[in-house]
Amino acid sequence: MEQIDILVVGGGVAGLAAAARFAADGASVIVADRAPPQPVSAEADGADLRTTAFLHPAVETFRKAGAWDGMGPDAEALWVMRILDAGGRRNRARETADFEAAEMGDRPFGWNVPNVAARRALTARLAELGAPLRAPAGLETLTLRDDAAFARLSDGSLIRAALVVGADGRDSGVRTLAGIGVRRWRYGQKALVFAVAHPRPHGGVSTEIHRSGGPFTLVPMPDRDGRHMSSIVWMERTAEADRLMALDEAAFEAALNERSLDVLGRLEVIGRKQAWPIVGQIADRMAARRVALMAEAVHVIPPIGAQGLNMSLADLEDLAQRVADARAQGRDIGGREVVEGYQRRRWPETAARVAGVDALNRAARAEAPIVRDLRRFGLAVTHRLPFARRMAMKIGMGAG
Ligand SMILES: Cc1cc2nc3c(=O)[nH]c(=O)nc-3n(C[C@H](O)[C@H](O)[C@H](O)COP(=O)(O)OP(=O)(O)OC[C@H]3O[C@@H](n4cnc5c(N)ncnc54)[C@H](O)[C@@H]3O)c2cc1C
Repeated sequence: MEQIDILVVGGGVAGLAAAARFAADGASVIVADRAPPQPVSAEADGADLRTTAFLHPAVETFRKAGAWDGMGPDAEALWVMRILDAGGRRNRARETADFEAAEMGDRPFGWNVPNVAARRALTARLAELGAPLRAPAGLETLTLRDDAAFARLSDGSLIRAALVVGADGRDSGVRTLAGIGVRRWRYGQKALVFAVAHPRPHGGVSTEIHRSGGPFTLVPMPDRDGRHMSSIVWMERTAEADRLMALDEAAFEAALNERSLDVLGRLEVIGRKQAWPIVGQIADRMAARRVALMAEAVHVIPPIGAQGLNMSLADLEDLAQRVADARAQGRDIGGREVVEGYQRRRWPETAARVAGVDALNRAARAEAPIVRDLRRFGLAVTHRLPFARRMAMKIGMGAG
């Protein structure tokens, strides 16, 4: 039996980040995933084509884990969030609001990083820390006792850990084995995700266009082969998303360019496209005896406002600090004080963010003219009142 401080179950970006953050702090860590390691290049079959806009607190967590420098070359700074409302009768912007990072200081809002690049940097860092991802090695059994947690993995490993971190995604086995319930709902939407090249530079501006069906967002990426690039997240009702995915290349590009309102010139799809169903989910609790759940094992939200993985890294930072304090004071790192403190601090904040993003998504996909007019009014007011504008930017940057 292997005796360690922390077992991280799940080797998605959240689980890899958790393992690196804890190991960099000096804990003995095993991170295990039931699936073989995912590709770390966007060209590989089955690669995750999403990008993530990491806000400052998330970047700070990566820095503490010693993994941010490895992501730097693939990261593009986000300086302006531009929101266009095109919800009128004609397909053109009837309201434009720019939220500029410069108004808040001299730093960008955050950095957009391809998920494959985040995974590559974290995997390299874990190897450096002597805690490489164990995969395929799924969690099979978990016994939670007052003195320790005991786990068996599908590769035959038997592990005794002071703390088990469940970062095993929306169908979390740790959550089930710890007896924690979950509430899930559907939005009837999908997000199409792909990269585009465009003739005009993005200038660090991320543009979100609202019409109906869901937002259409262009997020800056570094230039590639001398071409200006952005990643697209295009949310639509499921039937429309399926129709778009079935179109041939020329018809898809025509629909894409109609939806993008020519903000960066004619868009050309580069590489493959993926469609992600949009669901909402929240676990009843984030902690049980010797267990802390994090990331999608707790919360799943629509991909608007760059919140999902940023919330996950906020879970991690809170937990890592509690574990570090317990270690420094010679207390049990998986004891009640640590996991209950984590539950008390993170759950209400998580529930509030899940509810906020849910409301935003319902407004963003609205078909009814009255709701679209209200949405435009809300945007105009938020943008024109300096107090409301700064408050929105502060929340958008990951604070409060
Ligand atoms: C289209 C789209 C765009 C997004 N954009 C953003 C953005 O800009 N900003 C942002 O912050 N977030 C964004 N998100 C959210 C973000 O991508 C997700 O929160 C994140 O990828 C989920 O990571 P995770 O590690 O929690 O889960 P997963 O990636 O699902 O990882 C869970 C892992 O656990 C493993 N596992 C499951 N069961 C077991 C078991 N029993 N034993 C061992 N391993 C197990 C799985 O194999 C998997 O590898 C977006 C999401 C979508 C859909």
